[in-house]
Amino acid sequence: EDSFDEDCDYLFKAVLIGDSAVGKSNLLSRFARNEFRLDSKPTIGVEFAYRNIKIGDKLIKAQIWDTAGQERFRAITSSYYRGALGALLVYDITRNATFANVKKWLKELREFGKPDMVVVLVGNKCDLGQTREVGEEEGREFAEKEGLCFMETSALENVNVEEAFLHMINKIHEITS
Ligand code: GDP
Ligand code: MG
Repeated sequence: EDSFDEDCDYLFKAVLIGDSAVGKSNLLSRFARNEFRLDSKPTIGVEFAYRNIKIGDKLIKAQIWDTAGQERFRAITSSYYRGALGALLVYDITRNATFANVKKWLKELREFGKPDMVVVLVGNKCDLGQTREVGEEEGREFAEKEGLCFMETSALENVNVEEAFLHMINKIHEITS
């Protein structure tokens, strides 16, 4: 597999951010390779993954960056955000604290990221409805207030994962083309 593809029309960088253990790495492995891991390794050992997407007659190579566990120490640096056109900001619907921290992540994103970055707020683990702490409406309202797109997902059950990434990539394409 090559990292540079002469046949692609655009190369987009996007980043995954959010608290530790919300499911960022599993969302990415689901999107890039249709894989899910039950164990909670802080990292799956990759820094980014690629997927090619066709929009109209254009071939887009999406390069999605994942943290290698640095979010545990709030040690994500400006280089992580550099050149990123989109972000999935992820929280866990069963842990209110991860939703409360979305504000901090957004602040960091606005400090280091491009002003017109496409941000999708993602409430992950929607398969765990019995232990839900954050209502879907809460997520949606917050997203609306902040001008973000919003989606609830399950990396485990493969719900809305494709949709969340493709929504972001389509919006980036709209803005940049
Ligand atoms: P990260 O630290 O944000 O990258 O989170 P991980 O992807 O490593 O996931 C943390 C834990 O949550 C792991 O045990 C995963 O198996 C689990 N997990 C991730 N996504 C989901 C999901 O959609 N549903 C459920 N039930 N568990 C998930
Ligand atoms: Mg991870």
